[in-house]
Amino acid sequence: MSIQSALADLNARFKYRSDRGESWKILKGKASIFGDCEDYSLTLIWLAEGKSLLRFWLALLTFKYVMFYCKTPRGVGHAVLWVRGHGWVDNIQREFVPSLRQKGYRLRFPYLVPHMLLLMLLRPVLRFLPVSSAGAGKKIAIVVGHNARAQGAVRSIDGMTEFKWNGHLAELIRAHDPRNIKIFNRVPGGGYSREIDRVYGEVDAWGADCSIELHFNGSVNPRSTGCLTLTSGTRGSRSLARRVHDRVLTVMGNEDDGVRARGRRDRGGRSLWQGRAPAIMTEPYFGSNADFCQVADAHKDELAEAIYRGAVEYLEAA
Ligand SMILES: [Zn+2]
Repeated sequence: MSIQSALADLNARFKYRSDRGESWKILKGKASIFGDCEDYSLTLIWLAEGKSLLRFWLALLTFKYVMFYCKTPRGVGHAVLWVRGHGWVDNIQREFVPSLRQKGYRLRFPYLVPHMLLLMLLRPVLRFLPVSSAGAGKKIAIVVGHNARAQGAVRSIDGMTEFKWNGHLAELIRAHDPRNIKIFNRVPGGGYSREIDRVYGEVDAWGADCSIELHFNGSVNPRSTGCLTLTSGTRGSRSLARRVHDRVLTVMGNEDDGVRARGRRDRGGRSLWQGRAPAIMTEPYFGSNADFCQVADAHKDELAEAIYRGAVEYLEAA
């Protein structure tokens, strides 16, 4: 298969999903396939080389393809692929570009064949490690802000509401560990306080170890910008907020509105104080700002991963 048709085939079927640990694999499925940046590159080579493992390794040995470790413009570690005669490609660009430097990537080092072999051979070993490696089997509750009847702020670019947009973000977060992450929706009825008390009652009953309520900010000003995370200010909530906030801010690249504490009676405060588990609320960007709506959409997978990783780091430290 030509590299261009291999790329078209891959792009049509590949969906980003982060790995647990450093696990490299060729995605051999026929329909939709799920993997991260390394898997994207490996699978592209394998498809272009006619799904032959022999040709796959020969092509790597003869430097027809070279995988590189790099940093993205936001400083995140990332794998990209160089293809002789075609240029650079990765799961973000999804097409060949002549230069990655222009896109703000910084190349760090090439992966050589022995290194790649090791990482791919290690995969079966990594897979059988106890699942307790991420978050120690602790439970993360994701609460979607607002409800189906009153959906919260609306985005300037597409009219999408907080409830809708974050409902999808919640699913992306959950995909990282469906066993230990559960999505909770607020159901209207009986007034605001009852609605909050009900959903956090469910979060408690499930036995959550922490909870994260998803929002985005609203404003009449289309230039408003800022990434904000709300905490109750308790030690656990503050530590969770810090870890999630720093990662989310790195993905968004907007103004840092920081981690702010809210009292029980402050606006939104009930969500932070009602449940037993440490709780935070995220407001990664302003829905009124078209530029940052676009950033959030283009990096929605990374945003989900940032929230997940922040929570896992908190749970492992707690
Ligand atoms: Zn909101």
